Amino acid sequence: MSRGDSTAEIIARNQAHLASTYARADVAFVRGAGTELWDADGRRYLDFFSSILCTNLGHCHPAVTEAIREQAGKLVHLSNLHHSLPQSRLAELLTATSFGERVFLCNSGAEANEAAIKAARRYGHARGGRFEILTALGSFHGRTMATIAATGQEKVRQGFEPGLPGFRYVPFGDAASAEAAVGPDTVAILVEPVQGEGGVIPPPPGYLAALRELCDRRDLLLLLDEIQTGCGRTGTLYAYEHEGVAPDVMTLAKSLGNGLPVGAMVAGPRAASALDLGAHGSTFGGNCVTNAAAVATLEVLTDGRTLPRAARAAKRLWAGLRDVAAAHEDLGEVRGRGLLVGIPTSSPERAGAIYANALERGLLVNVAGAGVLRIAPPLTVTDSEIDEGVDLLRQAISS
Ligand SMILES: *Cc1c(COP(=O)(O)O)cnc(C)c1O
Repeated sequence: MSRGDSTAEIIARNQAHLASTYARADVAFVRGAGTELWDADGRRYLDFFSSILCTNLGHCHPAVTEAIREQAGKLVHLSNLHHSLPQSRLAELLTATSFGERVFLCNSGAEANEAAIKAARRYGHARGGRFEILTALGSFHGRTMATIAATGQEKVRQGFEPGLPGFRYVPFGDAASAEAAVGPDTVAILVEPVQGEGGVIPPPPGYLAALRELCDRRDLLLLLDEIQTGCGRTGTLYAYEHEGVAPDVMTLAKSLGNGLPVGAMVAGPRAASALDLGAHGSTFGGNCVTNAAAVATLEVLTDGRTLPRAARAAKRLWAGLRDVAAAHEDLGEVRGRGLLVGIPTSSPERAGAIYANALERGLLVNVAGAGVLRIAPPLTVTDSEIDEGVDLLRQAISS
């Protein structure tokens, strides 16, 4: 360690110069491998949060790191005025593994949703000028001006008025309310397959199928925000697969590059031509290095071993967490899907205390929604790491 690089010194320097947009814990990490992280003072932690669900294959997965190294030595960036290999391979993989026909590549979740919103507006523009998009209360779709307008949470919009018009919020998990809200201007419905930031809330079975049916009947686009649920997080490569219905558009980001910033809007047959020549663009979208990382990530996710292994890990984790939750009256039922798991607590304060206790013991978890513990280890988490993490969480809850 060089001088000035201890945990305390890194924190002091961050606090002096970074915008104060985040509430950060007093820890600075310098290295990661798989489920493990090490802080600047050499202390080991178990990451059951996967760096905000961005490292589904664990930290520094060898195949992804190697792909980054190799591409960085060949070609780092190319403009979208030319063709490049990593983005064509990524688009091939995204369409071959999904309902998709056309892919727009970008750098983040909010950008992927911006592309989806623009595609929906274009689709409606060609059909009598419909523009309104229904989204769900409690949803989260990003922090740009359009995606905060799409987000069904008042607190992310406060102080940024006037907002972008053309969004209406309906209760999540209730297809009948969505149907009642459809008006002459409505063009699309945008939802998450499982609400993530809203508190790990799965909808009732049949919800997506009912929305699909509604969208077909009323000529609406079904837009699925799979930024958090995609890339194997819920047990299938994309969460819509559980329901046996495909959307018209899906957005991906978070774990698509296993930690490198890459987003994608994947459009099926109905929406594929909505973003045509000149309709959208991004300087860094389709970047060679981030897309090489995404290609390597998708290759691992589809190797036939990673997802079955993740399913076994989920089973073990759920059993352990159910055991912990059942022993505490102030904890609710374990919920979620696959390795995206929530445990409701009695209050945000209680959840915050558990989070802090866990961190003190070397376990990273997170709080989402109103006091829900969000637990999301990498898909590669080992049995012994699951047992260790569950045990640390049990201690954090009991103390
Ligand atoms: C994280 C997230 C986003 C926003 O992604 P950014 O990369 O932060 O812009 C959008 N939707 C969902 C469901 C997310 O989890």
